[in-house]
Amino acid sequence: MEWARLIDKVTSKSLWMMMYCTGCGAIEMPPTVTSRWDVERFGIMPMATPRQADIFLITGYLTKKTLKRVIYVYEQMPEPKYVIAHGSCPIDGGIYYDSYNTINRLDLFIPVDLYIQGCMPRAEAVMDALLKLREMVEKGEANAWQKYHENFEYYDKNQKALFGENWRAVMTL
Ligand code: SF4
Repeated sequence: MEWARLIDKVTSKSLWMMMYCTGCGAIEMPPTVTSRWDVERFGIMPMATPRQADIFLITGYLTKKTLKRVIYVYEQMPEPKYVIAHGSCPIDGGIYYDSYNTINRLDLFIPVDLYIQGCMPRAEAVMDALLKLREMVEKGEANAWQKYHENFEYYDKNQKALFGENWRAVMTL
């Protein structure tokens, strides 16, 4: 077996997940990671820090202020890394599509590997997405993170259009 394929295969068996519980969908995560659905039986477990995480799961709507933190967290994660957008809000804005202060599409700002549609998606849908991601990693198909390098000008342009030219320099907590 080719070396890269072997790495993909073993990586898929041990994925640590950072959950960015920004939206209502966060309520579906406890049953996913605890005994009801027990995602750890598939080698997927919660991780508190971005530098040790493989999966970045974002559970719903994103305000402009929150999105800045999401971008910083994403950039701190080591590669390869995988993003799951959970719920309608990060896909097309959901019920907040015309809000003055939330974004409508997460994939304008960072690359996304998988979307879980619904408002809110149930834990079964989250499990389904995590198993699908695991399969994609094993097959070497979860490559969205590479787009951040290849198309950085595109993501950077969208980030600057939303936050302003010098947003990284002037960001405050
Ligand atoms: S998709 Fe629905 S459940 Fe999820 S954050 Fe948006 S409004 Fe809340």
